[in-house]
Amino acid sequence: MNSEALEFDKKHIWHPYTSLTHPVPVFEVESAEGAELHLSDGGSLIDGMASWWSTIHGYNHPQLNGALKVQCDKMAHVMFGGLTHEPAITLCQKLVELTDDSLECVFLADSGSVSVEVALKMALQYWFSQGKQEKTQFLTIKNGYHGDTLGAMSVCDPENGMHSMFAGVLPQHLFVEAPTIADDDDWQDSEIEPFKHCLQQNHQTIAAVILEPLVQGAGGMRVYCPEYLRQVRQICDQYGILLILDEIATGFGRTGTLFAYEQAQIAPDILCLGKALTGGYMSLAATICTRKVADKIGSYAGGNLMHGPTFMGNPLACAVANKSIELLLQSDWQSKVLQIEKQLIEELTPLTELESVFEVRIKGAIGVVELKDPVDMHEVQPRLVELGVWLRPFGKLLYTMPPYIISEKQLHKITRAMAVIAREACK
Ligand SMILES: *Cc1c(COP(=O)(O)O)cnc(C)c1O
Repeated sequence: MNSEALEFDKKHIWHPYTSLTHPVPVFEVESAEGAELHLSDGGSLIDGMASWWSTIHGYNHPQLNGALKVQCDKMAHVMFGGLTHEPAITLCQKLVELTDDSLECVFLADSGSVSVEVALKMALQYWFSQGKQEKTQFLTIKNGYHGDTLGAMSVCDPENGMHSMFAGVLPQHLFVEAPTIADDDDWQDSEIEPFKHCLQQNHQTIAAVILEPLVQGAGGMRVYCPEYLRQVRQICDQYGILLILDEIATGFGRTGTLFAYEQAQIAPDILCLGKALTGGYMSLAATICTRKVADKIGSYAGGNLMHGPTFMGNPLACAVANKSIELLLQSDWQSKVLQIEKQLIEELTPLTELESVFEVRIKGAIGVVELKDPVDMHEVQPRLVELGVWLRPFGKLLYTMPPYIISEKQLHKITRAMAVIAREACK
């Protein structure tokens, strides 16, 4: 490893959620291929993270690389204000086609957090254009994660979502207990009561409900049942409140259906997509809404949707997203995700027996081992690297969301490493 470069990194470069005063070690990646990361010290790691759940086809994919090269020779970027281009149009056509029939108006955002900001603004403008200035609140469930910008952060879990650190700055929204029932067969009506009650009490000031459907990601890696979502949709309809679904983590097959909401046979008014949209190649996200939402926003003079990032609809990002979606749809992704799920169930469920393990949760290509105590990342991260895998636990959560192309043998190495960590956590 080039120690001088790493020394510079340590002193000058922020990594996600880190301090420059108390830096933590980072590992230098030289290249990556399929489900493997090649470190500059010669070692290789099996990737159980899919680079934050995005590289579903694996790294250095010839067809994704090819799509970028072809687009690069035409134009890498052009502004989207007043101009348009084929890669963006094709992508929006695909998104309109793949999502529910009612979702037909697309805003291309440059990251997941931005797509959430746009969704929140869409909901606000929907009401403001109808003269309902009092509708400024959002209702969500605890343990959610919707991004790190101020607006998105304000609907993240109030405890692990940095609300106390930014108290006085973040707008105050409404939170109810997150559902805990994972299976429709175990459904009890009491599960929806807190949500129903809160909406009843506050519907006059609520613009929209925002949720991650079926799986809550970075806010706790929790799983809940479709029935909850079905009832949420019903109650929103009863009060005419918009439903925003954040499928940035769950979209593009991760939970076993192309979009998680399909499992509840419902559709949102506004949908956020990101992460796997480009197969993990570039930063791109989308906010898709119904014609009704778009028409209400546009229904008064000057009724423009007030957002427009510099790199909106970047052609390179759109071109690689088009190829990624094409690859996904051509592949037998559904059986691959089921296969991953089956292996995760077989290999992770037995860990429930361990004294250090609180719970094991599996949904599609997502495997979570919740420990009773938080892991010490200073110890656990190097240990995982020693075991030849790349996982990035947080708090008590040891989890994997691998690329869909991971082999059975590679995934076994991941689950084995998770077992080792869980076993070593037993004192
Ligand atoms: C990652 C994520 C976001 C934020 O996306 P960024 O691209 O990191 O801004 C928002 N919502 C969910 C559910 C996510 O998983």
